[in-house]
Amino acid sequence: MPDETRDSFEIEPPPIPPEEIADTFTTDVVVIGAGTSGKAAALSAAQAGAEVIQIDKHTTYRWSGGLIAAIDSKLQKKLGVKVDKDEVIRELMRWGGNKPDQRLLRLWADHSGAVMDWLMDMTEAEGIQTLMYQWPRPTGYDAKTEYYPDFPVGHMHSDGKTPGLNHSLALNCAQKRALELGVDIRYRTRAVRLIRQGSSRVTGVFARNPEGKYIQLNARKAVVLCTGDYGNNPAMVQKYCPASAEVARKNNIYMVRNEDLRMAPEPLNVGDGHLMAMWIGAVMEPGPHAPMSHATVGASGANAFLRVNIDGERYENEDVPAQSSANSLVRQPGKRVWQVFDSKWETELANMGVGLGTFSAANDMIRMQVKEMTVKADTIEELARKMEVPVNTFKATIDRYNELAGTGRDLDYGKRSDRLTTVNKPPFHAGVIEQHILVILGGLNANTKLQPLDINRKVIPGLYLAGNTVGNRFAVDYPTMCAGLSHAMAWTTGRLAGLSAAADK
Ligand SMILES: Cc1cc2nc3c(=O)[nH]c(=O)nc-3n(C[C@H](O)[C@H](O)[C@H](O)COP(=O)(O)OP(=O)(O)OC[C@H]3O[C@@H](n4cnc5c(N)ncnc54)[C@H](O)[C@@H]3O)c2cc1C
Repeated sequence: MPDETRDSFEIEPPPIPPEEIADTFTTDVVVIGAGTSGKAAALSAAQAGAEVIQIDKHTTYRWSGGLIAAIDSKLQKKLGVKVDKDEVIRELMRWGGNKPDQRLLRLWADHSGAVMDWLMDMTEAEGIQTLMYQWPRPTGYDAKTEYYPDFPVGHMHSDGKTPGLNHSLALNCAQKRALELGVDIRYRTRAVRLIRQGSSRVTGVFARNPEGKYIQLNARKAVVLCTGDYGNNPAMVQKYCPASAEVARKNNIYMVRNEDLRMAPEPLNVGDGHLMAMWIGAVMEPGPHAPMSHATVGASGANAFLRVNIDGERYENEDVPAQSSANSLVRQPGKRVWQVFDSKWETELANMGVGLGTFSAANDMIRMQVKEMTVKADTIEELARKMEVPVNTFKATIDRYNELAGTGRDLDYGKRSDRLTTVNKPPFHAGVIEQHILVILGGLNANTKLQPLDINRKVIPGLYLAGNTVGNRFAVDYPTMCAGLSHAMAWTTGRLAGLSAAADK
């Protein structure tokens, strides 16, 4: 039935003529997408005994970052890290304005520890170490005095060679295991349509093979949709996450961490999976959807140093997580601000607390960023000129900030005194901060078995969702209080969906 409220991308394209199908393959489970949730789904289905075909439109799998949030993993138990699941869920619900589906958050909270252990068994067998992010907490850190919670849930992998986060270490292990179990992984193969007659079950998918020909993949048991988000589809972002539409077009960094893999010729996360599912009756969760934009950190990290806008004015209490600082900076003129600190910055980091991108101690990477990403000067006037901000206003801002720091009370914005640092010891530094979009976290309505629901909230049988196609996990904003929550949800929902698909009839 025609629906005037639907955008053109939501309307199902005409059917693919049967004579254009070049080849047909039949298997137990078809997994669409070979990113994080796809890796988990394909391996889990194969471990449960299913025959699996996995397709991905990229030339290889994509990855970025490397933090994974888990509760009650064997590493946390070994280190004595205790996290109160109920408290975490309460905070996540509060952050999301009570809009997320608490049952889906609990799915992550209840299963993420076991999923992390499953992952660690694989990575340890390959000599890869798992570490906790920002653990132990810095001396003097007291979670109770922080404005924003931050839970010790972030796990990350290290091979002892490559610095920084490297999610491909875990993904490589999962892919290797999947191949050993006979998963038929086909890259450069793009899913274009799910196969469903009327209101019957989903029985497979049409895809384009590397030669551009249509193929039909039939699933005896089920199809798992692991196609990621839609952050590089401007029309979808405009409709479902309008406040992020401009930055998603201009400052989108979904694809930039693939330097060591072959770059895709075009963005991958254009919402193919969401659309294919909507064309067969699935329903997008209510908007506006939550964006992930926490990559916006200053040269020294997302620390609470002074921030000024391009008019040279201070505008907030800087002691907020990285994602929150991105939200306020786009409301400033020119949508860019400066983080300002002086030569004492390394010592001052010790009081800056913890959080995603917040550092309480310098390391080589931060030193390099401060060297390469800041303008430097021996006087405040010279710094202002290099920043191209009004000299007198900037000088007045610095004088006022130093005065407040001297009294130990932030009468203007109420920042805690130990983070009210002075800017009086040259050389002075300033680094630009802008907002970036990583992914958009809106997805499709689903039940706790990760099956999509139609307009009448009836299950669409034969199909499972995983990763960023699952709706109602986040709202308002991506919560940075659990470092690695997005990957963790992708691994967890991918594993659960893969196991359910393998058990489907
Ligand atoms: C720079 C950056 C850093 C990040 N760091 C972190 C971090 O440290 N911790 C964290 O929790 N999150 C992080 N994230 C977010 C996280 O990477 C994603 O949210 C997560 O990978 C989503 O997993 P997914 O399986 O849903 O999708 P993806 O991992 O994006 O995988 C989707 C896959 O589906 C494929 N695909 C899409 N359409 C089709 C189609 N039609 N046919 C076949 N294949 C298709 C794509 O090619 C892709 O390989 C980061 C994101 C970015 C951009």
